[in-house]
Amino acid sequence: FSYGQKRVLRDLGFSIRGGEIFGLLGANGAGKTTTLRLLSGLLTPGQILVGGHDLALEPEQAKSKLGFLADNVALFDQLTGREHLQYLASLRSMPFRQSEQRIDRLLKVLELESVANELCHSYSLGMTRKLGLASALLHQPEVLLLDEPFSGLDPPGRHRLKQLLAQMATQGVAVLLSTHELSVAEEVCGRLGILSHGGLVLTGTPEDLREQHGDLEFAFMAHTQTRDLGDLDF
Ligand code: ADP
Repeated sequence: FSYGQKRVLRDLGFSIRGGEIFGLLGANGAGKTTTLRLLSGLLTPGQILVGGHDLALEPEQAKSKLGFLADNVALFDQLTGREHLQYLASLRSMPFRQSEQRIDRLLKVLELESVANELCHSYSLGMTRKLGLASALLHQPEVLLLDEPFSGLDPPGRHRLKQLLAQMATQGVAVLLSTHELSVAEEVCGRLGILSHGGLVLTGTPEDLREQHGDLEFAFMAHTQTRDLGDLDF
């Protein structure tokens, strides 16, 4: 995939099973967000199948199986958090009673109950990210694509999200998340891939990578060809 003349991804191939949390690691600019935008249908390069449905030809069927948290979450500013979720539920044709129950549950789990009736434009970054997460989880997707899901969350929010992801995996959801936080990746993901030079240069379980490289930071530095500061003064 290229933006104009700028080639960002080449020969990128990997698979994720239901029930697996896969962490996409990579330096800034490696192409993590681009990968997630491609998989969610925000960018359309060639053929992408989600659950057997072509994202370009059958977008509604494909996207009904997908939950996506973008890097910059866009909310409907003039709606309250609850209305935002209700609107998305109606776009997804969710039955009213089922969607109301689901919305109540998500607001509670993500600790948004106290601000659910406030306008989205008053939300802090963390609240915005949480409502974005609630939006991605609303329709109980089979595949979850999360761009830097831990960014902007406070410690309780991070803790909740870790628990939520583990639950989703237990329920058979395939989770692909990007992060540049190695410690989070190690803790949360069953498998990791390091994206560099347009493709995955290393994949494995956190245990595999530690065994081969000592620690994840070292593996990351080695495979992204990050140089030490050395004697450079600044
Ligand atoms: P990451 O999420 O790993 O930080 P991105 O996918 O955001 O990386 O970016 C990958 C590369 O693509 C970077 O070099 C970035 O500058 C470039 N890029 C991203 N979005 C655009 C765009 N809309 N137009 C042109 N170049 C872009």
